[in-house]
Amino acid sequence: MYRAFERRDPTFEGVFWLGVRTTGIFCRPTCRARMPRRENVEFFAAPADALHAGYRPCRKCRPLDSGRAPPPLVERLLLAVDAEPGRRYRDAELAAMGIDPSTTRRQFKRYCGMTFQSYHRARRMGLALLDIRKGKTVLDSQLDQGFASGSGFREAFARLVGTTPSRAHDVGVLHAKWLETPLGSMLAIADDRGLILLDFVDRRGLERELAMLQKRLKARVLPGEHRFLTQIERELTEYFAGRRRSFDTPVAIIGSPFQTAVWNALLKIPAGATCSYAELAARIGQPKAVRAVGRANGDNRLSIIVPCHRVIGADGALTGYGGGLARKRKLLDLEARSTEDFELRG
Ligand SMILES: [Zn+2]
Repeated sequence: MYRAFERRDPTFEGVFWLGVRTTGIFCRPTCRARMPRRENVEFFAAPADALHAGYRPCRKCRPLDSGRAPPPLVERLLLAVDAEPGRRYRDAELAAMGIDPSTTRRQFKRYCGMTFQSYHRARRMGLALLDIRKGKTVLDSQLDQGFASGSGFREAFARLVGTTPSRAHDVGVLHAKWLETPLGSMLAIADDRGLILLDFVDRRGLERELAMLQKRLKARVLPGEHRFLTQIERELTEYFAGRRRSFDTPVAIIGSPFQTAVWNALLKIPAGATCSYAELAARIGQPKAVRAVGRANGDNRLSIIVPCHRVIGADGALTGYGGGLARKRKLLDLEARSTEDFELRG
C-alpha cells in the first residue's frame, strides 16, 4: 500500500485510505500531499476506520467524497466539527445554525456515505480514543484541548473514559490499551482479575458498554499498561499470524448467571469449529432459550477470546456479528486455515 501511495496509483482508490501520524490527517491513495515516512503511515480499509483512529479528513484530497467538491452545507459542518468536536449537533442546534436537519441528513449521506451524526460521533470518539492511545489522562486531554469544564467535550470524554478526576479518588482503576490488529483497532481493558473487555473501537454501543462497566465495577478506565494487556497483545499477534488457536490470558467474566453460562459454553467451542444458537442453548441445558442465547452472544464483551463469532445459523449462514460480518468471516477463515496448519504439522 505504501508503494501504491508512492506511485499515487489510482487503481487503489476506494481500496485503502492512509493516516499520517505526524499530521493527524487521513488521505486517499492518490493525494498529492508530501510523501510521509513509512513509519508514520497507517492504513485503513474504510474512511470511518480512519475517523475512529482519530484522523481528520485531508482538505486537499477530500477522502470522504468521490472527487466532487462538497456541497457548501457539508463543507460548513465538516469545518464546524473540526473547530469544535465536542459541541452538540442535534436537530435543535442545527436549526439554530440556520441549517435544515433533513437537508443535512440527505446531503451528508450522499456526499460522505454516512450520516452527519455518524461522522460526528466517529470523529469525537476517535479524538477521545487517540488521547487514550497516547497515554494521556482525562485531565491532560482537557487541558490540551482547551475545553472549559462542563463543556460537551468533557462530557463526551467522561462518558467514554470514566468519572472526572475530581471524583476519581474513591474508585478503582481499569487499565485500557489500544491494540492494532489486522481487522482494525481494538480497545482492551483489564485489571488484576483478568481481561474485562476486548472489542473493536468502531463497535456500536462501546461508549455505553464502558459507562456500564465503570458503574458496575465502581472503577474508572485509564490508559496504561497492565501485565494482562501485554499478554493479550502478544497472544493476539500470534493468533492473527496463525500460530495460536486458544488464549491463556485470564479473563474476568462479568455478567448475569445466564450470560455467564452462555459465555462459558462459548469458551468450549474450539477454533476451527462452529455451533448453532440452538446447539448452544441445549449445551447450557436451556434448549428453549435460543433467542436469549442469541442476545447473550451479542452482549459478549470479550471479542475473539470468548468466541461468539463461532456461532452461526442452523443453516450454516453467518448471521449477525457485533464487529461486522466481514470480520466474522475473516476470523472463521483464519481459524479454519490455522487448524489445517496445526493438523498438517501434527
Ligand atoms: Zn490528502
